[in-house]
Amino acid sequence: MTKKQSVLIAGAGIGGLATALRLAKKGYQVEMIEKNEQAGGRLNQIKKDGFTFDTGPSFFSMSYEFHAFAKECGIELPFDIVELDPLYTVNIKGIDKPFYIHKDISKFSDQFKPYEPDFEVKMRKYLKKAGSLFDDTVDLVIKNNFDSKLKYLLTLAQVNPIHLPVLTRSFWKQVTRYFDSKEARQIISLVAFFLGRTPFDTSSIYTLLSHTEFVHDGYYNVKGGMYKIVEGLVKELEKAGVKLHYNVEIKSYEGKGKKLEALIDQNGKKWTADIIVANADAAVFRHSVLKRKAYSQEKMDKKNWTMGYLTFYLGIDKKLANVDHHNYYLGNNYEDYATRVMREPGLLEKPYYYVNVLSKHNDNCAPAGSESLFFVCPVPNLIYKADWSDRDKIIDSIIDDFSERIGTNIMPHIVVRESYTPKDWESRFNLYRGSGLGLAHDIKQIGALRPANFDEEFSNLYYVGASTHPGAGLPMAIISSKLAAERVEKHV
Ligand SMILES: Cc1cc2nc3c(=O)[nH]c(=O)nc-3n(C[C@H](O)[C@H](O)[C@H](O)COP(=O)(O)OP(=O)(O)OC[C@H]3O[C@@H](n4cnc5c(N)ncnc54)[C@H](O)[C@@H]3O)c2cc1C
Repeated sequence: MTKKQSVLIAGAGIGGLATALRLAKKGYQVEMIEKNEQAGGRLNQIKKDGFTFDTGPSFFSMSYEFHAFAKECGIELPFDIVELDPLYTVNIKGIDKPFYIHKDISKFSDQFKPYEPDFEVKMRKYLKKAGSLFDDTVDLVIKNNFDSKLKYLLTLAQVNPIHLPVLTRSFWKQVTRYFDSKEARQIISLVAFFLGRTPFDTSSIYTLLSHTEFVHDGYYNVKGGMYKIVEGLVKELEKAGVKLHYNVEIKSYEGKGKKLEALIDQNGKKWTADIIVANADAAVFRHSVLKRKAYSQEKMDKKNWTMGYLTFYLGIDKKLANVDHHNYYLGNNYEDYATRVMREPGLLEKPYYYVNVLSKHNDNCAPAGSESLFFVCPVPNLIYKADWSDRDKIIDSIIDDFSERIGTNIMPHIVVRESYTPKDWESRFNLYRGSGLGLAHDIKQIGALRPANFDEEFSNLYYVGASTHPGAGLPMAIISSKLAAERVEKHV
């Protein structure tokens, strides 16, 4: 057997870890470097005083992508996944009962009787269209490598033209064509926020996400917390002989002709390999490490970035019986709020937010009689709000709102309190202007119009992760790792 080439992967987020395992299993000599003290990137965890918190992703869709990944690597999935039911709850201010989001459409629809009596018929019709969008695009557009914009356009031309009108509409517009009540419209369009923007500036193509959440195949958690994914992958990588180096941040490079010869870290150390894969954000890496003109400061600021996140982690010495595992808390001005929240920091006085109670189904994630709570509040990124000196004021207002809604003042029960503003997300993971999910998914920034997963100048440099093709989210990172590994295997 001829000796396989060496591969260096810069960044140990889920995209980098999955690519490393795929390549190690194919016989490549793989080494990884990571800026932080532990692997996982945004899929990370905080442990403090007996409490465990997921820091970023708290559930995922398209579980079959993880199973396919394990099979392709010849391993058992190294963590236990648990299907969610309900998927999550949505609490709307002024309505005293939460809406339980169930995959069982009849059960889900029953809750809309007071608001939209023929909801079930409308929902099934809406999902039929979302399903056909999914079926007609996922293999063709999402799971394909594109060598050029022309190839991408030719591929798009194969998509059933019946979907063309959808291209011109927003997610919100599509939802309003099917549903009349504000309750139904809000709850169905909420999934657009999962892409880091709002239903008002997300294309209706992404109503296919409603198909993935309700039909194909719901949402999943990991037993013991989401970080078990990272721990499991790191174990598999170590078994496969992959070396991981932490606290190594790539700052510059050395290249000759078409070859990227070395990445250079913060201490001036050179890291070399035959092939290099950047898991650092694909646009940021070209901007700050490669210093490419096409990714100058001016051009970066002109791109569309996702919102920032204010996340905070509370350990409380009390159980919360009436709060589910995954919960959304909305106000009563959804349309106004969602159209303005991206750019208007003033709205954060009364924010919308998500609460995850990891200890609900994982006793070992909090001391006995306690609860570990993780709050996510979508906020303007640093382009629209650079000053976060009011972080604690905003967090306190969310804690007060949450306490009022659940009928228990949790403030005196807080024993652990940690938080990340967009500034922290930016500095920890090199996320441009603190945008939580990287580049937005508008028509001009997807497919071959997203930063490519191969480099424009160096023939031995590839990319994997959220800001290259196909996009953000854990299953997309797994698909991205497959596409990046395919590129490496074709490398000559
Ligand atoms: C608050 C929040 C909630 C989320 N919730 C969900 C969810 O519920 N479900 C879901 O599916 N997705 C969710 N996501 C999205 C998901 O986290 C990401 O899409 C995914 O984790 C991205 O993985 P990645 O490998 O592309 O990038 P990253 O996780 O960012 O990994 C990149 C790695 O590269 C490292 N790096 C960067 N620059 C350098 C450098 N110069 N040198 C060395 N290393 C470097 C970083 O430190 C990082 O470890 C959420 C994201 C956030 C922020």
